[in-house]
Parts: sequence; structure tokens; C-alpha cells
Amino acid sequence: MTIPYKHEPFTDFTNEANKEAFQQALAEVNEIMGREYPLVINGERITTEEKIVSSNPANKEEVVGSVSKANKEHAEMAIQAAADAFEDWRYWNPEERANILFRAAAMIRRKKHFFSALLVKEAGKPWNEADADTAEAIDFLEYYARQMIELANGKPVNSREGESNKYIYTPTGVTVVIPPWNFLFAIMAGTTVAPIVTGNTVVLKPASATPIIAALFVDILEQAGLPKGVVNFVPGSGAEVGDYLVDHPKTSIITFTGSREVGTRIFERAAKIQPGQQHLKRVIAEMGGKDTVVVDKDCDIELAAQSIFASAFGFSGQKCSAGSRAVVHADVYDQVLERVAEITEQKIVGNPENHDTYMGPVIDQGSFEKIMGYIEVGKEEGRLVSGGKGDNSKGYFIEPTIFADLDPNSRVMQEEIFGPVVGFSKAESFDEALKIANNTEYGLTGAVITNNRQLIERAKREFHVGNLYINRTCTGAIVGYHPFGGFKMSGTDSKAGGPDYLALHMQAKTISEML
Ligand code: GLU
Repeated sequence: MTIPYKHEPFTDFTNEANKEAFQQALAEVNEIMGREYPLVINGERITTEEKIVSSNPANKEEVVGSVSKANKEHAEMAIQAAADAFEDWRYWNPEERANILFRAAAMIRRKKHFFSALLVKEAGKPWNEADADTAEAIDFLEYYARQMIELANGKPVNSREGESNKYIYTPTGVTVVIPPWNFLFAIMAGTTVAPIVTGNTVVLKPASATPIIAALFVDILEQAGLPKGVVNFVPGSGAEVGDYLVDHPKTSIITFTGSREVGTRIFERAAKIQPGQQHLKRVIAEMGGKDTVVVDKDCDIELAAQSIFASAFGFSGQKCSAGSRAVVHADVYDQVLERVAEITEQKIVGNPENHDTYMGPVIDQGSFEKIMGYIEVGKEEGRLVSGGKGDNSKGYFIEPTIFADLDPNSRVMQEEIFGPVVGFSKAESFDEALKIANNTEYGLTGAVITNNRQLIERAKREFHVGNLYINRTCTGAIVGYHPFGGFKMSGTDSKAGGPDYLALHMQAKTISEML
């Protein structure tokens, strides 16, 4: 009997022993800096001339590692390897597939701080964010393994006299996994093991900014007993390798997390039937967000300010769940705004390797430029209350930035910035606040801060987001507790870490036998 699922606890870094252990882990990670990692296709290691280099966003000179870079031929080999491996893997006992996930989870847990320390280096995550990312990776393995065991015999259906009916889930085929760099461990691992545990095989094209954690994860899966060809590792460019994998007639599922632009492009390409293709492709897409924290006049001001602050600036706002808009009732607007600014100015921005740092850098030069561009737009559109400056001399640092008095239709209030920028708009009533909250093309997360029960009920009905939070932040979904995914242009509402997620990777089959 497997013990019931419970999420991985977060590390308390106020405890000296934990703090020391993490510092030790950072030192261990220093020892593997700069290593090279090959492609893995059908269990074979392939080293290419061309590399993708992963560097530390807090210190651009520091190379975290490099991976071999796949071309179209490698992509073709990887698809063929996955297609071949599928013929065996699909018939494995689901419980044995699940056991590989349990083993991998145990292996990660044993070196938990090591992996988190790598995330600090590779993505610039502060300690607590890195710790939560690793915890979530473990959670995905533990949760999906249990879900698969539950689904192993399908779901009950009725049988009439003289017949025996069964409803079972069968694997689908080759799955192309294209994860993001922001949850470089959790989402990469979750979107890789969901297809695997359901009996599919995978071609994993990691995010080019963060391929090292993915390379290590592929090793872990192999050590945990995953047969060759079940996961194939092909870092490469989106234009060359990404499109090729998406278009391939043998691809059955594409699971993507990233921008709206790339997600809609994949959706469109996947719809086209290629010569020789005998099935419709499925796309599981998790795209952007423009998420709102709505604050009512009847609220705990401190809770409102802390929720806006943490939702906006956790991991430098680089979450699709980030609360990049605060819509506040006019009666408490000034008070809430002032308190958020106060909290923001007390926090340390800097090297995420330091225990005291609240916010580290943004991921790369492209992001730095894009966010600084939006800060200029914000200065035109609203009133700069805090932050506004950036410094990319050593790493890609941007101050947590607050704009007030924005028109709800301004660009800062409508477009996903994916950086440490929050915009405030004033609402004259809760009605107006809800209207503003629903006025973007996205529908991922949202939070409502109020003590008014009636308004809480209205928000439950009328605030159209995939993840609605009451009196808390709009970030920080936990696997198995807050299944995560959004409406509208935020994606296919495929709820990661939820009870329906695995079924998206399988084909249900009805078997009716006459007795
Ligand atoms: N699941 C994360 C959260 O709840 C966000 C995932 C993402 O940004 O892609 O904050």
C-alpha cells in the first residue's frame, strides 16, 4: 500500500542547520559548474559541436553548464526512438511505471538542497523559491504516480445482464514536451513524467535558458529504472527542432508551457494533418497570464498589501500566475498602495545566493530589455511609485517597480510583462473591480481580498479565472491541492497537479464482452 499523498514540506531557512545545509549545497553545485551534457537518444549519449550555454543570470560571466545542441536529424532520431520504445512501454504494468516515479522522487529528495542550489544558479531563484520549485517537482512525481495507480483499472461503468463492460485508459503515443525556464525543475519534471507514467514516450526539448537541471533529471529517471528510449533529450532551437517535433506525423501529444505567442503557434501547427499521420494531435498548453489581485474596501489592509507584494514580486514576477495588476477600491486605495510601497522598499534585491535576498535577477538580456521597455511605457501611462531602475552590468537586475493610477486598458494593465512590475488601478465599486479583473484576454489566476461574504460568493461566480484565491496570494499553487491552469488565452485549462490531468495523456477505451 502506498501512503497517502501529502505535499513536500518547505524548508525553514530561519533554522540555522537548514541554512548551513543550503550553503553547503551551493558549494557542492559550484563544483559542477561549467560541465557539458550530451543529448540522450534511445539511451545513447551524443555530443555535438554546437552547444547551448546556460549562464547564471545573477552573474552572466559564470557558466552553469552547456548542453549539446540537437539539429533536425537528431530530432528525427529522437522521435523514432520514442516511437519504437512506445511499443513496449505502453504495455508495462502501470504500477511498475509508477514505481519508477516513486524511486526518482526518493532520489531527488535525498539531494534536495543540491537541486535547489542549482536552481539558484541556473535561474537566479532566491532560496525559498528554489526550495519550492524542487518540492513541487517531487510532488508531481509522487502525485502522478498515485493517480496512475488509481486509474490502472479504469473507471466503473454499468453492465447489463449477460455482458461485462469495462472502461479503461490506454496510452496515446509519442509526446513532445516543451517546458518553460521559470519553473525549470517542477514544470519540466511534471510535464515529462505525466506522459511517461501513463505509458507514452517522450521527446524532451528543455528551455534553452535552463537545460542543465533537465539534463540531470533525465539521468535521475534513467537511474530510477526508466528503459532507454522512453525519454529522449534534445535541447535545440524552437525554429529548427521545436517546429520539427511539433509537425512530425508520429507526434501524438504536445505539452507546452510558455508564452501565448509560442503556444498559439504550436496549437495551429499541431492542427495540420501531415502525410502519413493517422490521428489528431492533442495539445496541452499553459500560456500567459495577466493576473489581478482585487481589493475590496472591507478588508484587512495588511493582508491586502502583503498579498499584492508577494504575488507581484515572487521570483521577480516571472510566473504566469504573478499578480501583475492590483485593482483596489477607492476607499482604501491610497492606504494599500502606500503599504505595498513600504514593504517593497524594505526588501533586498541582489544576489540570490545570499540568504537574505528577497528578489534576484530576471532570466536574460532579452527579458531585461523587454521589462525595461515596459517600465518606460509605465512612466508614460501612470505614476511611478517605487523602483523603475535596472542594472545589467553584472547580472540582469531590475528593481521591484510599482505604477499607480493606471487606466485599466493601459498596456501595463493589459500585457504580460513577466517581470517585477505591478500596476495599480482604482475602482469605485466591487462591481467595477470585477469588471476590470475580467477585462484581459487571459484567465489564469486571480485573488480577492475582502471580509464581505457576499462579495466572496460573487467573485466565485463571476471572476473568470482557472485559479481563484480568496484572501491570499494568486501565486503558489500546490500539486494535489490547487490544480493549476487557466481559461481564455492562458491555455487549455489542463489542470496540472489535478485529478483530471493524467487522463489528458490517455485514450479511454470501452470493452464490452458478452458473457
Ligand atoms: N504554478 C505556479 C504558481 O501557482 C505558476 C506556474 C507558472 O508560472 O508557469 O504560482
